[in-house]
Amino acid sequence: RKRKIRGVLFTHGHLDHIGATPYILPKLGDPPIYTMRLTAALIEKRLEEFNLKGRSRMHILDKDDVLTLGAFTVRMFRLNHNIPDCIGFSIKTPTTHVVYTTDWKFDHTPVDEKPAEFHKIAKLGGEGVDLLLSDSTNADEPGYTLSEKELGEKLEAIVKSVQGRIIFATFSSLVSRIQQAVNAAVKHDRKVVVTGRSMVDTVEIAHNLGYLNIPKKTVITAESSKRLPDSKVLILTTGSQGEEAAALARIARQEHKSISIKPGDTVVISASPIPGNERAVAAVMNDLTRQGAHVLYQKILDVHSSGHGRQEDLKLMISLTRPKYFMPIHGEHYLCVAHAELAMSIGMKKENIFVMDNGSVVEIKPTGARVMQDKIPTGQIFVDGLGVGDIGEVVLRDRQVMAKDGMVVIIMTVDRRTGKIVNSLDIISRGFVYMKGSEDLIREVKHEVRKVVETQNHKPHEPNWAYLRNQIRDQVGEFLFQRTERRPMILPVIIEV
Ligand SMILES: [Zn+2]
Ligand SMILES: [Zn+2]
Repeated sequence: RKRKIRGVLFTHGHLDHIGATPYILPKLGDPPIYTMRLTAALIEKRLEEFNLKGRSRMHILDKDDVLTLGAFTVRMFRLNHNIPDCIGFSIKTPTTHVVYTTDWKFDHTPVDEKPAEFHKIAKLGGEGVDLLLSDSTNADEPGYTLSEKELGEKLEAIVKSVQGRIIFATFSSLVSRIQQAVNAAVKHDRKVVVTGRSMVDTVEIAHNLGYLNIPKKTVITAESSKRLPDSKVLILTTGSQGEEAAALARIARQEHKSISIKPGDTVVISASPIPGNERAVAAVMNDLTRQGAHVLYQKILDVHSSGHGRQEDLKLMISLTRPKYFMPIHGEHYLCVAHAELAMSIGMKKENIFVMDNGSVVEIKPTGARVMQDKIPTGQIFVDGLGVGDIGEVVLRDRQVMAKDGMVVIIMTVDRRTGKIVNSLDIISRGFVYMKGSEDLIREVKHEVRKVVETQNHKPHEPNWAYLRNQIRDQVGEFLFQRTERRPMILPVIIEV
């Protein structure tokens, strides 16, 4: 199939859309990439980190280009999001017209680019759209999404009201938010310190390409900021999700090489935690406040609430494109269902809406559309250290068991002829019980193990060690559960002599 791939199209530079490129492109035979300039630069940076730069040919698109890729004709239309150069695609096959909106919102007053191209979208609708795929992230939020301009004003009001230093934490990929922070800093006469590797990279890439407007002498080093009054400094940092290695967490733990918290600092966290990160964020906030910082937690400036269209925007997209079929995408299943209901509320028929799972296939023909029986295999691939996908379910389950209840290693020497334990029996516990103080329990475990070994039906000529190990694992496991209500991983090691 590799030879059939004419190219890969990218809509925008957020990590959930480009992060896997270093893993996927080589598997697809390094196909050419088609995308806008900023996205291209961010992808190249990503590929460079994996020593893959230059393997795929990079084609930089103009938003008015018409691309011919094999039998497909592809056109672009600009959308708003919270990173510049976000585009949707109109893809025409010999029989079908598909419109793919990626993450998007409509913004009449965006911060760093032009409004979405309503006229093009409406024109596509006029040509007849067979299938629309649209962003469901905010399908349960009523109304319209706030414009970046309003968000910028909110941010500026914060910067204006603060006396001491401001430490502003956000995602490095939120170029629009970074621009707003810089604007607010410049307006209120603050210099900007940029910290965190990905933040430094993004600011450099976006600034060099002209996507970030930063007046000369605005950005200074952390060292030189120490010579300025606190009211003249804004520090831009990564780590709004409490990520352990990010600059904000290092600042909070007092491990950052050039920035430390002092009383009077205000930390603005411009994103609400992605589910699962709440505790990490709370830990960082605890450390910051303990050192005297004031922490402002800005849900309103959050990525999710601000970068994606809400119900009224979503309805407008459907009305403009007037698709025959509709597929809500990019969101939890319940949000895709909410999006489907919105479509029905403005007149789409239920049978023309496809709420799909990853890997499901819908076939669209001039005569109709249907969901196929066969699925494309999908799933998650775990990237662990240098390994990609080499850690399977079993290893992950082991890690979970060990993390939850620890492990117990039972080491014994068994005589091959008699099937009896020679010498003593060693028990090692890691993360299960503290050995000292649990002598009784350990003694009982040893007793259990001996019982299993002594009562086995040992055949000197064909000893079945695997069976014995399983028996020990089961019975000792059961015994420990009775006694402690914990299920540590049990690893019997048999040395035969
Ligand atoms: Zn995005
Ligand atoms: Zn996304």
